[in-house]
Amino acid sequence: MAMKRHCAADLRPPRVMIQTLGCAKNAVDSDTLAGLLKQGGFECVARESQADVVVVNTCGFIDDAKVESIQVMLEAVRWKQAKHGRRVYAMGCLTQRDGPEIRAELPELDGIFGIGEWSSMLSALGANPLSVMESPNVTMYSGKAGPGSAYLRISDGCSHACAFCAIPQMRGLYRSEPIEKLVQEANLLARTGVKEILIIAQESTSYGVDIYRKRMLVELCNQLSEIDGIEWIRILYAHPPSAPPKFMTELARVPKLAPYLDFPIEHASDRMLKLMNRKTTAAKMKESIDAFRDGRDNVCVRTTVLVGFPGETDQDFEELYRFMEEVQFERAGVFTYSPQVGTAGADLPGRVEEGVALDRLDRLMKLQKQICLSRHKTLIDATIPVLIERNVRDASWGRSAWDAPDIDALVRVRGTLSPGIMHLVKVTGAAAYQLDAVPVHSDNLQRSDSCGSFALPVLSH
Ligand code: SF4
Repeated sequence: MAMKRHCAADLRPPRVMIQTLGCAKNAVDSDTLAGLLKQGGFECVARESQADVVVVNTCGFIDDAKVESIQVMLEAVRWKQAKHGRRVYAMGCLTQRDGPEIRAELPELDGIFGIGEWSSMLSALGANPLSVMESPNVTMYSGKAGPGSAYLRISDGCSHACAFCAIPQMRGLYRSEPIEKLVQEANLLARTGVKEILIIAQESTSYGVDIYRKRMLVELCNQLSEIDGIEWIRILYAHPPSAPPKFMTELARVPKLAPYLDFPIEHASDRMLKLMNRKTTAAKMKESIDAFRDGRDNVCVRTTVLVGFPGETDQDFEELYRFMEEVQFERAGVFTYSPQVGTAGADLPGRVEEGVALDRLDRLMKLQKQICLSRHKTLIDATIPVLIERNVRDASWGRSAWDAPDIDALVRVRGTLSPGIMHLVKVTGAAAYQLDAVPVHSDNLQRSDSCGSFALPVLSH
């Protein structure tokens, strides 16, 4: 019997393109899958034209994200149908929640997987899950955020029930990862040159409560602070009711904590907070913010606000506006409400007209722009550390300790500095969402002590 002859294309590993939609948590899942596939002998590629397999990592957070995920899956199916042998799989939040409907509507998909179904995915793709998942080289909790920067996902799921949010339906109850595994993974990241760890979770302040019976975020960050090479630990997604004042002061004092906290208040009218099922009040949130600011000089508190939730009156909005004026958040994002199927908010009366919600968003963003500009002006002539992300022509763009990737301000530095490295710069100009600066040293910055000096946004004036 004649042996089948393999051509060169048969011998090369299957090439997989992962298309990621949604938030940083999804980006971590995509990076985990990419690591597992590489360990299983697959090659990950950046473009569909180079791929044999496309995996769409879906998002279902809001209606627009759901529509986009379906469009991307449809495009991938068309790509598959254009050439024999191609395969398309879907994973992520949307498939976790709406898997049966998606399977019925898109039978051309070769497989649909929920959150964390790595073993089934690897088997479907043709890898041996047992040998791949036991490899010590695979990172399971982290993903690239930019040069010198990585996300560390400390938990998945959420056990709260905010009335506007469908995340608990999609991601399930809160599940913390063991502290020793996270520290081990952060050590691996540091050895690859990562300088900044971005702590992510659906909400990070409850970390540990499910497996250690107490909040363990401070303990985790203290252990991460001891890792050589890590300079900034940045906390994203604190949950106000899980962040009492004493805890906030302890958190602010973690040695390498970037002077930054993402603290999404969502609203500041107590009536709206109750309707949103946030289980806190404006006064309690203010106490927590004050406690964080008391624990550390020059901190940046970022918040997120939702306007137009059902029942929001002009008076509720004015309370929110006054709270934002009083607290003077250094960073803020404002969103308008859109109802999510299966959430308590979707059934509430008192819908707010879209135009009214947009006007409220506009007023808050104007206020925030003034606050950001005046804060930035105080930095002129200051010397600050910046993590450089990229070079564009004869300038370098990076982030200060006050800025998380993608959502906050940028620093433009004259000249080309190495990406992924921290540099000291002197601020020469300020706009609301950008600083201009010149390098202070031509060499990159080396930590000279262990007292967390890079974690100060302002070193000197
Ligand atoms: S804390 Fe609230 S907003 Fe955040 S993921 Fe949980 S339910 Fe959603």
